[in-house]
Formats: sequence, structure tokens, C-alpha cells
Amino acid sequence: MTSPHAFWLAGRQATGEATFDVTSPWDGGRVGTVSLPTDAQTEEAVAAAYAVRDEFAATPAHTRAAALDHVGRRLVERTEEIARLISAENGKPVKWARGEVGRAVSVFRFAAEEARRFNGGEAQRLDTDAGGEGRLALTRRFPRGVVLGIAPFNFPLNLCAHKIAPAIAAGAPIILKPAPATPLSGLLLGELLAETELPAGSWSVLPVPNDRMPALVQDERLPVISFTGSEAVGYAIMDSVPRKHCTLELGGNGAAVVLGDWASDDDLDRAATRIATFSNYQGGQSCISVQRVIADASVYDRLLPRIVAAVEAQVTGDPNDDATDVGPLVSEAAAERVEAWVREAVEAGAALHTGGERDGASYTPTVLTDLPADTTLAREEVFGPVLSVQKVSGEAEAFAAANDSKYGLQAGVFTHDLQAAFRAHRALEVGGVVIGDVPSYRADQMPYGGAKQSGVGREGVRFAMDDYTYERVLVLTGL
Ligand code: NAD
Repeated sequence: MTSPHAFWLAGRQATGEATFDVTSPWDGGRVGTVSLPTDAQTEEAVAAAYAVRDEFAATPAHTRAAALDHVGRRLVERTEEIARLISAENGKPVKWARGEVGRAVSVFRFAAEEARRFNGGEAQRLDTDAGGEGRLALTRRFPRGVVLGIAPFNFPLNLCAHKIAPAIAAGAPIILKPAPATPLSGLLLGELLAETELPAGSWSVLPVPNDRMPALVQDERLPVISFTGSEAVGYAIMDSVPRKHCTLELGGNGAAVVLGDWASDDDLDRAATRIATFSNYQGGQSCISVQRVIADASVYDRLLPRIVAAVEAQVTGDPNDDATDVGPLVSEAAAERVEAWVREAVEAGAALHTGGERDGASYTPTVLTDLPADTTLAREEVFGPVLSVQKVSGEAEAFAAANDSKYGLQAGVFTHDLQAAFRAHRALEVGGVVIGDVPSYRADQMPYGGAKQSGVGREGVRFAMDDYTYERVLVLTGL
């Protein structure tokens, strides 16, 4: 047997006593075996991060930026190999995995740029108020302390990048915890970071098992928790540490709204193609997948058959094949859950237009209409290749339907009407509104996060840096 993948403890490779296997969701084969850190090793990583925090905060910006640029360059050089690794452990089609590597490159580049310009702060004369004569205030941002970054399985490289790159840019040490199903991409990021000159202790990548996470979450040396994952786990973490600074990037059941003016054949073809692609890419396992289509009655009858045809045109199969659009879900259990939710919906009266079949971890791209409001599928995040199409009359009803969700991550609105775009921006209770496209567009430099149960706080490189740091004022007297 080949030796297990080491983890990264305070910037150097280490192995523990136990191991676990990472298996392919596509064929069940072993993709790798990963060494688990012992409690003593986890403690060593936390202690090292805590000890290095002042030194790391004082590391010159150009040194941190150079390290970030280095990782970005190495990701470019190794794109194909890393894409194949993501695809193998996560099951996402390799063409989408290449896109994920490209996005991680951008995250490291943005972080390098932000490292160079961060911390400018501002200067304020204080003599605008009595008592402030002869005084000047300067502000700078300083790290809050060591960050605990917790990442999900669905973008195993890029969501690790979104935790670690802003931390390095801000000079905050980080303990990164990748998802148990997909730890290899995060560990590979460690390999690239180890090629840099960052201080030992400033970063660790530790695949700590879930049952040992509560101790880490409670550790007072880790005042910042940046979590991306499910609503249940995220809020349980935040509730267990109410005095910590927590960012929660949680789930969604994204709506694509098609208004009545999006009505030409070209318009409807484009909407249908984008909806079909982005309800199924990643097997629907994206927090901003299209789960709900809300179409104006005036276009509904022409849109629905186009969506069904575009969904049926999605190529399902082996994620390692370049032609594949939709691979398996992350596990057979995930596909069984999706199957059960669709079955419940159909039994409650939903009409199934295509899909609805499971084979192991694979689930066929599925379109439903007439989805009863009290079904699990209507209320929860499906995180699978399933969408429902709903008919509404007019813009106000469309926006109300989009808001009829406990989630509020992003929404897409297909319209040409600029005024309608501004009304959508005002009306929709989400972290981001995308006009002329599906909700599934995320640029990695923009502020990204949820309203309602979709989360707390914002990511997106500079916004995560704001989150990892706080403003400290310096008052100079006698000037
Ligand atoms: P998950 O909540 O099961 O796991 C997320 C991470 O939390 C994993 O690393 C897991 O090991 C860890 N974890 C589990 N139990 C823990 C505990 N008790 N204490 C600390 N950490 C613990 O989520 P998942 O299935 O990996 O990811 C899917 C979810 O992530 C979906 O809900 C999806 O919408 C969400 N997501 C959100 C965003 C966003 O930016 N808003 C992006 C991607 C995914």
C-alpha cells in the first residue's frame, strides 16, 4: 500500500496514527488514504498559530503577497493534475473542475493585490469638536487572531482558497479544516504553500474528524471562525460560541425569475440553456444552483418545453470524461436523499417532466412543476440536480415567490428592463441579484454571502480580510 497523504502541521508535513480513505463517488474506487492528526498534533498546530500571530501580522505585505502570487502561479502550472484530483474525490466533471482551479487562481491573485493595498486606513483631524484641538486620529486594521477555516466538499479547492488566501493577505494565522469527503484538494494547497517563505505556524491544513471539531471550535486561541457548509452545522457552531466572530456561508435554494419582457425566442433559449446548465452543474451541489424557476405566465408555456429539452441535453456520466456535464453526487446517500425528496413531491401532486431516476450516487437531471408548497423539496435546499418551474402573474408576484424561502443567497432575474432590475435589487431578500442570468454567478472578488438563513457576514477576498481583522484607532496629541 502507498503511504498515506500527510497533513500540514504548522507549515510542515506530518502524519498521525490513524488514516481514512477517500473514495470516488463515481466508481467507489479509493482515490487516496489520508492521515488523521492526533489530538496532540492538533494542539501543536493551534499553539504554533497562536504563538506566531504577532510575527505574522508584522510580516511585510510584499512577502505575503509574493507567497500568494506563488501559489496562484503554481495552480496555473498544475491545473490539469489538480482538476483531475478534484474530479476524482468530488465526482464533479473535469471540465467544471478546471474552472474551479481557475477560480482558485483568481482568489490567490486577488489576495496578493489586496495584501499590497490593505491597511491604508484613514487619518482624521479631531479639531472639529471641542477637546479635539491639536489631535489627529489614524486608523489601521489588525488581525483579530488565529482563524479557524472550515470548508465544505462541493468546491474542495476554491472554498479552501477562500479561507486561506484572505488570511495570509491579512496577516492572520489560519487552521484550515477541509471536508472529510474531499480533503485531498485542500492538502494539495498546503503543498504549494509549503514552497513559500511564510512563517512556520502561520498556516496548517488539518483533516480533523467531525467528532473532534467541537474542541477546536471552543478553543479560545481561535477567536475567528469562518465556516462554509450546511445551515444545521453552521448555526450549531455559532450557537456554541456566541462570543466568537463567526462568518457563516450556508445553503440556498436559488431562484431564477423570468419576467414577461424576456420573451423572444432567443431570450427564452438563452434562459433555458443557462437554467439547465446551472441547476445541474456540480450535480446541483452548489449553494447558488438554480433550484426554483419562477416564470411569468406570458412566457411560461414557451419556456417550460425549452427547459425540459435543455435539461435532457445535459450529458451525464463519467466525471473524468471531457464531454460529461453532470457527474454523480458526492455519495450514494446524498442521491438517495434527493430521490426520496422527489418521490415525496410527486406523491404530493408534483408533475415530473423528466429525470427522477437514481443509479448509485448518480441522479438524472430532473424537472418538476406544480410542486406543493408543503413538500420538503419546496422548502429546503435540494443540493441535487432537481429544479421546479412555477408560473406567476407579473413582477410583484414573481419577486414575492422568489422571497418565499427561508434562504436568501442569490437570485437571478431575466429582464431587459433597467427599472425592473432596480426594483429586483430593492425587493429580493438575498445577498446578490444577477440580472440577465441565473443566480449561479459568483465573482470571487465581490462580497458574497446570504440574507435570512443563508448565513452571516460576507466572503470575497477583501471582505473576508475585513472579517479577519478589526479597526484600531491611534490618537496623536499635541500636533
Ligand atoms: P457540512 O455542513 O456537512 O460540512 C461542512 C464542514 O463542516 C465540513 O468540513 C465538515 O467536516 C465540518 N463539520 C461537520 N460537523 C462539524 C462540527 N460539529 N463542528 C465543526 N465542523 C463540522 O456541509 P457540506 O455537506 O460539506 O457542504 C454542503 C453545504 O455547504 C450546502 O448546504 C451548501 O449550500 C453549503 N455551501 C455554502 C456556500 C456559501 O458560500 N454560502 C458555498 C458552498 C457550499
